Amino acid sequence: MREKTKVKRMFILDAGSFVYEMGMMTFGKDLEERRRIFTPFFAFDTEEGWILYDTGWPPEAIPLLEQIGYEPQIAEENSAVEQLKKIGVSASDVAKVILSHMHVDHTGGLKFFPDAEVYVQKDEYAYAFRPNSFNATAYLSFTFDSPDIKWNILEGDTQIAPGLTAIMANGHTPGLQGLAVELPKSGFYLLGADSVYLKKNIEEDIPPGSSWNPILGQYSIKRFKALANLLDAQYLPGHDYDFFTGEAKLAEAYE
Ligand SMILES: [Zn+2]
Repeated sequence: MREKTKVKRMFILDAGSFVYEMGMMTFGKDLEERRRIFTPFFAFDTEEGWILYDTGWPPEAIPLLEQIGYEPQIAEENSAVEQLKKIGVSASDVAKVILSHMHVDHTGGLKFFPDAEVYVQKDEYAYAFRPNSFNATAYLSFTFDSPDIKWNILEGDTQIAPGLTAIMANGHTPGLQGLAVELPKSGFYLLGADSVYLKKNIEEDIPPGSSWNPILGQYSIKRFKALANLLDAQYLPGHDYDFFTGEAKLAEAYE
């Protein structure tokens, strides 16, 4: 029997935005187009303390984004600690950090949470330290290569707390994990992170253009769509600017 959820509230927080090539997001589609994309991360108020899903950008990445013409809009107020302050949470309140994967826009705030237990998939952890040269630039090891981080290495789908279950959604990277969230009033949300940059990836079963393995990436989308149907869940994209600045509520409780 399913344990009763211990998640009380979910918050979507704003780690900034930048302009990205559609070809990196939608495999083989809209190759000439560029689009501003949003970097969210998530905070969960649970009976076991505060739990994060991803941590946003490190400030050191901003000049790199400017150099390559990605027009970053990432201010001090978009750092993980400043965003948490907006909802009355301090870094020391965070008990656990779940990383969807180890690309730099997800690991950038890890240094703020030295006391937290950090959860990542084994295949992601191994790859992040030795990525293939063609996609190595997305991993900035100074954000995660630290003896102070309390790693918890997961091997596949794993319940992190009642109401928060990591589910493999690999393809974009070797060990990307999505998150199934059960809220007390509104039910299930499935967070796809970069397995589905945009709503278009979900609607048209398009894997990310930036892919370690696009075939696995497509299977992950189809599996999450099947799960969303079984759980009557809302399936959220990972970086969709229109979604996160439109229908999503930022720094407001989902219950
Ligand atoms: Zn990524």
